[in-house]
Amino acid sequence: MRQSRAPQTFRVKSFGCQMNVYDGERMAELLADRGMRAAPEGEDADLVVLNTCHIREKAVEKVYSDIGRLVKAGGETPPMIAVAGCVAQAEGEEIMARAPGVGLVVGPQAYHRLPEMIARAAKGERAADTDMPADAKFAALPSRRRSGPSAFLTVQEGCDKFCTYCVVPYTRGAEISRGFSGLLREAEILVEAGAREITLLGQNVNAWTDGARGLDGLIKAIAKLPGLQRIRYTTSHPNDVTEGLIRAHAEEPKLMPFLHLPVQSGSNRVLRAMNRSHTADGYLRLLDRFREARPDIALSGDFIVGFPGETNAEFADTLRLVDAVGYAQAFSFKYSPRPGTPAAAMDSQVPREVMDERLQRLQAAINRDQLAFNKASVDRHCDVLVERRGKKPGQWLGKSPWLQSVFFEGEATIGDMAAVELVEAGPNSLHGRLRETVAA
Ligand code: SAM
Ligand code: SF4
Repeated sequence: MRQSRAPQTFRVKSFGCQMNVYDGERMAELLADRGMRAAPEGEDADLVVLNTCHIREKAVEKVYSDIGRLVKAGGETPPMIAVAGCVAQAEGEEIMARAPGVGLVVGPQAYHRLPEMIARAAKGERAADTDMPADAKFAALPSRRRSGPSAFLTVQEGCDKFCTYCVVPYTRGAEISRGFSGLLREAEILVEAGAREITLLGQNVNAWTDGARGLDGLIKAIAKLPGLQRIRYTTSHPNDVTEGLIRAHAEEPKLMPFLHLPVQSGSNRVLRAMNRSHTADGYLRLLDRFREARPDIALSGDFIVGFPGETNAEFADTLRLVDAVGYAQAFSFKYSPRPGTPAAAMDSQVPREVMDERLQRLQAAINRDQLAFNKASVDRHCDVLVERRGKKPGQWLGKSPWLQSVFFEGEATIGDMAAVELVEAGPNSLHGRLRETVAA
């Protein structure tokens, strides 16, 4: 069995949100720092880290099916399996009991201890660590080394909002902000390593504070780094929006004209039952202020359909809100009861067929507005940060300032900032004509 000796190669598979992608990168860096090698694509790894998501039911089922598949494919020599992320935090003991193929379980605030746990698991000691120390993890991780043109930087973790449907406050713990100087240093290293765009991440990223500054202060400090061209942040909460953050969109040219501000529902009764502590009108007024500061800002949001007790009329309020906003993009989900959350115990759970139908109608409205936003961008001239090659020869793919995917052909390379004219729009991407490139 591979488990009987220390693993030499590893693969980290991350599911779910961008914060998990960031954690997955940090785990890979940590393992590489301790002398392990990332298994090349198509080759089996001695250690597979499943960096999981617990936000909806399907995400959890996927973990168990992945474990089963890895054990089966490994035959006589299955890899060591580590379950990390929010499923590990929420269901650590259950995973250990239900899946004997799992060697170790590590929560999102404890993964800096992975190497020691792997060493124990290699000796046959199955281990679980789901401690939630506040900021210790970041100090214990090795420094960043490599970066693509667009990098993530987690600045805030956890959540104190306790929306009644959500597991995050239980799996990620209380809201904490990472320290200013450590963040500035990490941003600097990312830029030295090739990042031209940094997306600041947090469950409630705009709750970030060091006591003296808010997120706008952090954005402005990071914007001073020479070589960094773009800053984004996600995900924001309506209650943590400050005047300073809105003004930063008018004042800081490196801050991209894009805002992801989830609302969840257009019905005030449903919002109250969700414990969202903002109203639909209050949300719309906030968006107006962002638009005043930055008239071309692209708006994005999250929606849940079929929250317990949601009526047809309340769902119609959500559709009306979508019509009023005209989102450039948005995410929409069927409500998924999460064990231990207040909403899971509420009466009047909405039947699955009703949720299916509402989700289809909501997504049709969002897709309509996304296409309209993309079509309205045609003839615009903008910079595209080149992230990778396209499928066709000579084709490149990158992002516009409004986070649209843009394809174009011509002389360029990854990390370039290409000046393009947007000439054609589809629902999910645009086609651009190259005018000029500024080399990375
Ligand atoms: N903190 C962010 C906020 O409040 O907007 C979002 C964090 S959460 C990881 C991302 C999205 O997942 C939420 O905005 C919500 O739409 C969705 N979500 C969370 N719990 C859910 C549940 N139980 N069922 C369906 N969707 C859910
Ligand atoms: Fe979950 Fe609400 Fe916190 Fe967002 S604000 S992470 S939806 S509890």
